[in-house]
Amino acid sequence: MPDTTTVIVGAGHSGLAMSYCLAAQSVDHVVLERADVANSWRTQRWDSLRLLTPNWMTRLPGYGYQGADPDGYLDAKQVTALLEDYARASGAPVLGGTTVTSVRAAGDGYVVRTDQGSWHALTVVLASGAAAVPVMPAVASAVPAGITSVTPAGYRNPDELPQGGVLVVGASASGIQLADELHRSGRPVTLAVGEHVRMPRTYRDRDILWWMDAAGVLDQRYDEVDDLVRARHVPSMQLVGSPGRTLDLNALTSAGVRLAGRLAGIQDGVAQFSGSLPNVCALADLKLNRLLDTIDAWAGMPGERPAPTIVRTAPLRLDLRSGEISSIVWATGFRPDLSWLDVPVLDRKGRVAHDGGVTACPGLYLLGMPFLRRRKSSLIDGAANDAADLTAHLVSHLDARAGGRERRAS
Ligand SMILES: Cc1cc2nc3c(=O)[nH]c(=O)nc-3n(C[C@H](O)[C@H](O)[C@H](O)COP(=O)(O)OP(=O)(O)OC[C@H]3O[C@@H](n4cnc5c(N)ncnc54)[C@H](O)[C@@H]3O)c2cc1C
Repeated sequence: MPDTTTVIVGAGHSGLAMSYCLAAQSVDHVVLERADVANSWRTQRWDSLRLLTPNWMTRLPGYGYQGADPDGYLDAKQVTALLEDYARASGAPVLGGTTVTSVRAAGDGYVVRTDQGSWHALTVVLASGAAAVPVMPAVASAVPAGITSVTPAGYRNPDELPQGGVLVVGASASGIQLADELHRSGRPVTLAVGEHVRMPRTYRDRDILWWMDAAGVLDQRYDEVDDLVRARHVPSMQLVGSPGRTLDLNALTSAGVRLAGRLAGIQDGVAQFSGSLPNVCALADLKLNRLLDTIDAWAGMPGERPAPTIVRTAPLRLDLRSGEISSIVWATGFRPDLSWLDVPVLDRKGRVAHDGGVTACPGLYLLGMPFLRRRKSSLIDGAANDAADLTAHLVSHLDARAGGRERRAS
């Protein structure tokens, strides 16, 4: 069985950033990847998707966007090319086509089994993605036969859906972007809106993410927030990667998308929506204004605020058997897939329990999760700081282990 100091599982940007930081500390390691570098950008993104973060935010340890359009937004092919280039330039030891099938504690390290043989490692970094699997709510099983169901991970473009009305469930980044695209394709679209994070693309002539970066909002640490569990479950920002274009609920309503409340259930083929739409919109407006207050306080002057979200009458029921709806897009979030992890670090809900990416099993780390160590942790721009912090922890774990052995030997 080959030996290495650290196995990193996954060669997305998180795994590659960790590899860069470990190499800088001369920690021997290997990156095991079930497919190729940037697999999720190759296989799980729709055709028109562009990053919602501007190009200048595509920063990784020892690397960054160098193109001519720092304020533009990369498409998925460009992200793939950029990550391939990063892997090459940093000499990351990636073993592609290697699926990790289990990680088990063994002695003072781990045995990592793969479909290409096993590795022994003193430490393991789980970088297999926070958005590995699209989440579909239980209610999806009650959708009447004949209606096409898709998730953002499987959807590619409008041509793949049947003609006719679409119900998009979920109004975070994926939901609003797909509602907009499907509406533009000529289909009547109903958007079921639950809790969401409203965001203007620009504020006071700059990208909103420029303000959030400059004012330190994205750097807020996990040990500084009042309710970390909640902070880790905040939906993605309602943004689209298009210069100057705000795609919020007002923009969608003006274009002709019909809003409904959160999808609460489907009974006898009839979708039932919560009546809370005005409240969730008011809450999103309130939270947006709080964010803009923070930015104004940092900038030392007030800016012009977006108009409140306008909520017209929203349907409470939609008969899915009437023929009005031919497809449903479940833009209801994603989750990690760590079903192959065979170490006792999972909580009651099957999530890895961790303190800023450090698990209770010595030498086992987690990277790339929402608000892992900072608000920006799940963004590409968040990997540099998090990987550096976890590398420092991992190196001191190795030092302590080596010191312990020396002490036992003397
Ligand atoms: C639709 C969408 C849009 C996004 N847009 C942005 C954006 O605009 N800006 C931004 O900064 N962030 C964005 N993100 C968030 C984040 O940057 C991406 O989710 C990114 O792909 C996460 O990178 P990662 O390396 O953590 O995980 P991933 O990219 O998912 O990489 C994990 C890797 O692990 C591999 N793997 C998984 N299981 C195994 C196994 N058992 N054995 C071996 N290999 C395995 C996978 O094949 C994959 O290559 C977006 C996310 C989504 C879902």
